[in-house]
Amino acid sequence: MLTYQQARHEVIEHASKSARPRQTATLSVWDALGFVLAQDVQTDRPYPPFDRSTRDGFAVRAVDAIPGAALLCAGEIKAGDTVTAPLKPGTCVQIMTGAAVPAGADAVVMLEHTRRQGDTVHFDRAAIVGQNIVPRGSEAGPAQTVLSPGQRLGYAELALAAQVGATQLRCANKPRVAILSTGDEVISIDETPGAFQIRNSNSVSLAAQVRLAGGEPVLLGNAADRVDDLRAKIERGLKEDVLVLSGGVSMGKYDLVETVLKDLGAEFFFDAVAIRPGKPAVFGTCAGALVFGLPGNPVSTMVTFELFVTPALDLLNGAPARDLPLVHAQLGKALNEKPGLTHFLPAHVEWQGPVATVKALPWQGSGDIAALTHANCFLVVAADKSRLDVGETVPILLRKDIV
Ligand code: AMP
Ligand code: MG
Repeated sequence: MLTYQQARHEVIEHASKSARPRQTATLSVWDALGFVLAQDVQTDRPYPPFDRSTRDGFAVRAVDAIPGAALLCAGEIKAGDTVTAPLKPGTCVQIMTGAAVPAGADAVVMLEHTRRQGDTVHFDRAAIVGQNIVPRGSEAGPAQTVLSPGQRLGYAELALAAQVGATQLRCANKPRVAILSTGDEVISIDETPGAFQIRNSNSVSLAAQVRLAGGEPVLLGNAADRVDDLRAKIERGLKEDVLVLSGGVSMGKYDLVETVLKDLGAEFFFDAVAIRPGKPAVFGTCAGALVFGLPGNPVSTMVTFELFVTPALDLLNGAPARDLPLVHAQLGKALNEKPGLTHFLPAHVEWQGPVATVKALPWQGSGDIAALTHANCFLVVAADKSRLDVGETVPILLRKDIV
C-alpha cells in the first residue's frame, strides 16, 4: 500500500501529463482572484517611476546634513507634485512620503530627526547617502516581466498587474470537476430524509473544496449502488476534466465504483493508501479524465480531497502543485494511536506567542462532521507511532479554508 506521500506523487505525475489542452479566457483584475495566469505581465515603465521618498521629512545632500547643520528650507514637495528644479547646495526641501526626490538630493531625513525654526532646519545627526529613498527602477525596470504563466493570482499579484496597467489578464480556465456521490442511502439536501437515509453533504463539502482548490464544480447529484445508474452517471462525469466520486470504493458488496470504472477502461494508479481516514481512496484515468474515488465517510472524503485532488487541480490550472500546508506544533495532550497507518486527527492548534500548541479533539470517527467544525487542523500521526507525549513536536496539516 502506498504512503500518502507516494500517492500524491502518483497524482502529480499523472496530472502533469494529463492530455486535455488548457483553454484560456481574458478576465478583469477585479474578477481574476484565484485564477492562474496564462500570459506574461510586463511593466509599462520603471518602478518606482521616480526616486521616491519613503518618509515625511527633508530632502538633503548628505554632505550638507551633518550634526549641527542648519539649512535653509527652499520649499515643499507633496506626493504627486511635478518635480523639475534640482536641490541647491546648502539647502533642503520639505518632502512628503511618496513624493519625488529632487535631483541633487541624495537622502531624506525624517521629520522626527530635525527641528525647524522659521525657514531654517536644524539637523542633529549625520545623513547617510540613499537613506529613505527608493531609487527609480529599483523595484522593476522598464518592460520587465513581473508575472509569468503559471502564477497563481492572489491579492498581491492582482495589485501588481493593476499597478503596471495590466487590467485584463489572460488566465487558464479553471478545470471542471464533476462531483458524483454514490449510495442508496443518500438523498438530496433539499429532501426530507427517511429514518435511515442521509443527506448528501459530501457534494457540498466537495464543491467547496473544488472552489477553494481552483476548480469549477459540476454537480452530478447521487448515483444509486446499481451498475446501470452508476455507469450512466460516471460516463457523464468523464466528459469533464476531473471526476470526483464519493463512496462506493470500500470492500462492501455494494461498493461498485471500481468495477464500473474498470469496465469503462479506467487505468488505476492506486486503490488504497496507508492513511486513516481515507484508506480506500482510488485514483486513475479514464477516457482522458482524472478520476478520484474517495471513500464516502464525510471526513474521509474531505481529507482525501485535500491530500490528493488539490495538487491535480493546481497542475490542470497550469500552476505547480502546492505543497501541503504542513507545519510543526507542540503536542498539548498525550495520545495513544494504533500504529500501521498515518492518522489525520481533527485537532485544534493555538498560537500563544511563537509556539503553537495542538490538541486532538474528541471525535466519533470519520463520519463525525461536527467534530471537524471545531478543528482548524489535522494532527498527523506517523504510521509507526503508537504513543505521543505532551511537549512532543508533531506535524499538523492546516485547514487552509479557515486558518
Ligand atoms: P461508503 O464509502 O459508500 O461505504 O460510505 C461510507 C459512509 O459514508 C456511508 O455509510 C454514509 O454514512 C456516508 N456517506 C456516503 N456518501 C455520503 C454523502 N454523499 N454524504 C454524506 N455522507 C455520505
Ligand atoms: Mg456507499
